[in-house]
Amino acid sequence: AILADQIAAGEVIERPASVVKELVENAIDAHSCRIDVLVKEAGLAEIRVIDDGAGIPADQVPLAFRRHATSKITSKRELFRVTTMGFRGEALPSIASVADLTMVTAVAGADGYQYHVRGGEVLAQGVASARPGTDVTVSQLFYNTPARLKYLKSPQTELSQIVDMVYRLALGNPTVAISLTNNGKELFRSAGNGNLQQVIAAIYGVKVARKMVAIEGQDDDFTIHGYVSLPELTRAGRKYQTLLINHRYVRNFNLTKALIEGYGSKLMVGRYPFAVIDINLDPLLVDVNVHPAKREVRLSKEAQLGQLLTTTIQARLAQENL
Ligand code: ADP
Ligand code: MG
Repeated sequence: AILADQIAAGEVIERPASVVKELVENAIDAHSCRIDVLVKEAGLAEIRVIDDGAGIPADQVPLAFRRHATSKITSKRELFRVTTMGFRGEALPSIASVADLTMVTAVAGADGYQYHVRGGEVLAQGVASARPGTDVTVSQLFYNTPARLKYLKSPQTELSQIVDMVYRLALGNPTVAISLTNNGKELFRSAGNGNLQQVIAAIYGVKVARKMVAIEGQDDDFTIHGYVSLPELTRAGRKYQTLLINHRYVRNFNLTKALIEGYGSKLMVGRYPFAVIDINLDPLLVDVNVHPAKREVRLSKEAQLGQLLTTTIQARLAQENL
């Protein structure tokens, strides 16, 4: 079972940033209001995620570490209507199979539970006092999978991957207050008040955020909303366009292209706008089961959505007489 978990980990857990992603997504699924991510040495030494969410009842903690144990999907039908960030029940057993992991969790009004597992082996567990919520500490990532360990990049690179991951999670969840601290130094904090423009300001700076304009569009299948910059505010390179589908960050070349097409010839060659766009759609129209890390999604009606993105941008620029 440990080997199966390690194989699954190979697909889901590539680096410290993947651990951050999975733990924060779990915290979001648990309806947390506040999530603090504390890493040491860019996560190479330690990754800790503290949330104030629902917690796990003591008697269900061991189950949460069993492969394909998820509390989030109860029928095959639901698999095609995923609304939570997680649903595979793979993250916790995967991480626990390739690292040292301690979870302390409690539901409101009950005793907490502590669970310590290393390389898939439970070292200690039992009742512990804890505030409601969940606190997970992961250290020695990949200590028992040398090939993975070798593949890790410099602390700078790993840290920037974590930062980008936290940005995306914060942009997709403006109602959750998310912070990131490395070696005691706070790198990011969102207010959690639901204001997307404020999250954008916390990431790209107040000057950029102030210059971005709200966009909204919809057709029979899709609703889109977010903020984009006008053609006067661009950057070289294509990393400042964030697409979210039902609050989940996705990479989709065709949709990003459709977004940029909305600007037509108003962009200088090699220059791209800032954009943060959340696309809401019936979960039936999106298949998130393509890749375990869920970065890639398969969309029905992708061309139709691209068209909507292009025309929404065009209409918004026209409002500015552009
Ligand atoms: P998945 O998220 O796909 O269900 P995970 O392995 O990430 O699988 O988590 C297993 C289960 O553990 C979840 O379904 C959930 O019930 C529970 N869980 C994990 N993290 C948390 C958390 N931070 N707060 C509450 N419950 C959690
Ligand atoms: Mg999960």
